[in-house]
Amino acid sequence: MEAGNGNAFVKRAYAKINLGLDVLRRREDGYHEVKMIMQTVSLYDILTFTRTEEGIAVVTDKEELPGDESNLVYKAAKLLADTYGIKEGIKIELQKRIPMAAGMAGGSTDAAAVFRGMNECFGLNMTEEEMCALAVKIGADVPYCILGGTALAEGIGEKLTKLPDAPDCFLLIAKPDIDVSTKYVYGNLHADELERHPDIDGMREAIEAGNLGGVAQRMENVLETVTIKKYPVIQEIKDFLKANGAVSALMSGSGPTVFGIFETAELAEEALLKLEERGLAKQLFTATLINRAEVE
Ligand code: ATP
Repeated sequence: MEAGNGNAFVKRAYAKINLGLDVLRRREDGYHEVKMIMQTVSLYDILTFTRTEEGIAVVTDKEELPGDESNLVYKAAKLLADTYGIKEGIKIELQKRIPMAAGMAGGSTDAAAVFRGMNECFGLNMTEEEMCALAVKIGADVPYCILGGTALAEGIGEKLTKLPDAPDCFLLIAKPDIDVSTKYVYGNLHADELERHPDIDGMREAIEAGNLGGVAQRMENVLETVTIKKYPVIQEIKDFLKANGAVSALMSGSGPTVFGIFETAELAEEALLKLEERGLAKQLFTATLINRAEVE
């Protein structure tokens, strides 16, 4: 953790993409059983922690994202304060840079950063396993965000297997001007009627072999069947990226964000300029993959 001004500490909360996303079935309790390859990317929010006398205060730089009890940052801080009987207070300032309602786990990664940040700030000495076991109460993707890097996620997303770092590549991340609710997408998915299932095991082998082509060739996300049907612009962006130098392109999570994989930074930059001109996406970023070791 970097030291901030005075007694403040700063943490980065990195976004994720799904290199592959399969839904195996809908459970009786309404949750979906998934099988996904998760990958941390170099787009991040910044959280600044300052110890105070008492209470939890969350301040954000986005009007549409209040720092109240609905914020996952607040929820994570409250869960930790209650679980560990922390008597002192904490102020957490959130600089939001990850697009919201985008399929990039923006909220989950902020919660994960609170776990890592408060663990250090208050000397809680939680192991990664202990943090993950508690973090799942906030959301199924939070344990993965604590781990970071390349991982296989199963169960409802909380059963994690660390994988070797995915092969290096360059990304163009594009979010069209729509917000998608994860609840809507899963609610409209007919898991038992899916015609195709991604080859997640094959992708895992390709990652283990360091074979970028093998990864790209297996990039599939079953949630596209719901989100693209409602928002065809997602398909347009995927096609545009593939026609403009991307080895492959996919919707991340429940969408609507699309990422393209490129072999060089120049190709990703060129595609960004062309897509900007074409006007299909409101937010555009180039990015790289972030390894587990870089997620402090
Ligand atoms: P996922 O990929 O996990 O489905 P997402 O990128 O689709 O996530 P988020 O940006 O994480 O979606 O958040 C969805 C909603 O959660 C937001 O619209 C917002 O109301 C709420 N939320 C609560 N706390 C946060 C936070 N710290 N950052 C972003 N959204 C938050």
